Amino acid sequence: MFGWLRTRLAPPVLPDEPWQATLARYSFLRDRPAAELEHLRRLAATFLRDKEFHGAHGFVITDEVALAIAAQAVLPILHLPGGLDWYDDFVGIVVHPSEAVALRKITDETGVVHEYEETVAGEAMDRGPVMLSWQDVLAGSVTQDDGYNVVIHEFAHKLDMRAGEADGCPPLPPGFAGSRNAREAREAWMAVIQPAFEGFRELATIAERFGGEPPWLDIYAAESIGEFFAVACEGYFVNRPRMANEFAELTVLFDSFFRPGKTS
Ligand SMILES: [Zn+2]
Repeated sequence: MFGWLRTRLAPPVLPDEPWQATLARYSFLRDRPAAELEHLRRLAATFLRDKEFHGAHGFVITDEVALAIAAQAVLPILHLPGGLDWYDDFVGIVVHPSEAVALRKITDETGVVHEYEETVAGEAMDRGPVMLSWQDVLAGSVTQDDGYNVVIHEFAHKLDMRAGEADGCPPLPPGFAGSRNAREAREAWMAVIQPAFEGFRELATIAERFGGEPPWLDIYAAESIGEFFAVACEGYFVNRPRMANEFAELTVLFDSFFRPGKTS
């Protein structure tokens, strides 16, 4: 696998055919401007060179699998200063054939530890590997209208976790939103994402308890502000028009972070 990469380490180049096949499958990639796609292709190639893919439960990592994941994983960092440095805290990407069962442990107020199983489409571990379900990665090719994308979701968590726990605020660059220090930058970020999260959670609660219209985006975003950030990134990267319509201020905030110095 990737013989074509090993022979061209500097700079890595992805062959045309599998690259075009990946773009054809994921229209939110394909529909980007040509210059952006060239940049995406170079980043994806470097990502493939630097990361190690592992198949779980006998799942075989084909070029198609690795390329689909790489092309989507680098989308959030496409315009970020530092590029792939954002992902330099891990190497492994574990791919399951479908959703995986994760064992969870929680300690209740009385100190009793409860263990339970949770089915997950993906998981990002702090300074550890990213786990993805291939079935869900593939579903990303047809779920952009709903703003669903498991690869963007897990890699958004990775960005968030660069600043400690996943709390909905990735590390912000100096001077972000006219701020004078890191505290002000974070305040500027939270001032936009916090009310967006609370508004979403309110709609989600109304939908669940009283049968109201569920809000656009995965209802799982109501879990925590960290999940809201990751889910909002999905919407932003795979369906920007709808995102801008539903979350106008958050989209402007994301633009200033993900596309610094650019007008969208
Ligand atoms: Zn998540």
